[in-house]
Amino acid sequence: MEYKIALIRGDGIGPEVVREAVKVLDAVAAKFGHQFLYTDVLMGGCAIDAVGKSYPDGTAQTCKGCDAVLLGAVGGPKWGHSTDPDKRPETALLSIRKELGLYANLRPATLRPALADACPLRRETAEKGIDLMMVRELTGGVYFGKRDRYQTEDRGVEASDLMAYSELVIERIGRRAFELARLRRKKVSSVDKANVLETSRLWREIMHRLAAEYHDVEYEDVLVDNCAMQLVRDPGQFDVVVTENMFGDILSDEASMITGSIGLLPSASMGDTNPALYEPIHGSAPDIAGQDKANPIAAILSAAMMLRYSFRLAAEAEAIEQAVDAVLAEGWHTGDMAGDTDKLVGTVRMGQLICAKL
Ligand code: NAD
Repeated sequence: MEYKIALIRGDGIGPEVVREAVKVLDAVAAKFGHQFLYTDVLMGGCAIDAVGKSYPDGTAQTCKGCDAVLLGAVGGPKWGHSTDPDKRPETALLSIRKELGLYANLRPATLRPALADACPLRRETAEKGIDLMMVRELTGGVYFGKRDRYQTEDRGVEASDLMAYSELVIERIGRRAFELARLRRKKVSSVDKANVLETSRLWREIMHRLAAEYHDVEYEDVLVDNCAMQLVRDPGQFDVVVTENMFGDILSDEASMITGSIGLLPSASMGDTNPALYEPIHGSAPDIAGQDKANPIAAILSAAMMLRYSFRLAAEAEAIEQAVDAVLAEGWHTGDMAGDTDKLVGTVRMGQLICAKL
């Protein structure tokens, strides 16, 4: 089969980690008889330097002509000062998410067996294994509600942020979570604050409607404060965790932290139609850019997610994940991870080791 992939290499370590992910994709193509066709898309700080804006005209159009988008990272101190939105790298990220209609953010938190020692949780908890998928709603809630700041008569200045959620927005993210659970261990935990918030009560009502429809999937409601606690007490109990925008922002960072280095974690952002966008959760790491120090594993595992979720190539995705596990099990690591100095490798060598395991 032939698949078209848009590559947004971006800034800082972005080009270095995407290059390694492409190497791994090419190794998968050779092994499984696929063809991946790449289109380079200029976006971020490098685009400001080249054409004067971070989100050049036609970016979304080019991406829409592909089956999936793989992004490295954008941004860096060089472009951090402009007040002109066209000259800010984050503008490009927000614009592409909006133009591609990406409303679901998926972040797996997986504790790779070789890294149990790097897990800050108790050994017996870590040894049970962690393999959960955070599904965060990306377009609604308090981050996008009306903001206000006004003078009161007796309490000084007051500010407010409106949290709103519609049936449509809740249902589409819920459906996404149930569909994903069917590809995994068939359990959905829906996180809300229904004992206090009206938006959460609507959220819960709609999730219950979906749970009745997806009766092959186990379902539970979890209050957000309890979820934060359970994530450090016994994260192994979770499979798919679905939640609204702000709760998801906070809980997904908590979930990533329990699994070790930021250089290991992939993510996906999806809408109703292709292309979805896959990217490591880390940024452009300007402090180590161009020094062959970046860990390419988050980008490589983002490519594996792309194979699994956009192309439905589960065996190929698993092959990548197993190759990563095998390399880590042998003790190979980049500078962001702990390990023996004689097994410390750079970005390029890490990519080669993973390709060799494939
Ligand atoms: P960062 O993730 O780039 O770096 C944080 C720390 O983690 C740094 O010490 C860095 O060296 C280290 N690190 C990150 N990724 C690593 C990897 N793969 N291997 C080894 N070490 C790694 O976060 P930051 O410093 O807050 O942001 C730097 C720039 O990246 C900013 O301009 C920010 O806006 C941008 N950013 C972009 C994205 C994105 O493109 N989606 C996301 C986050 C931050």
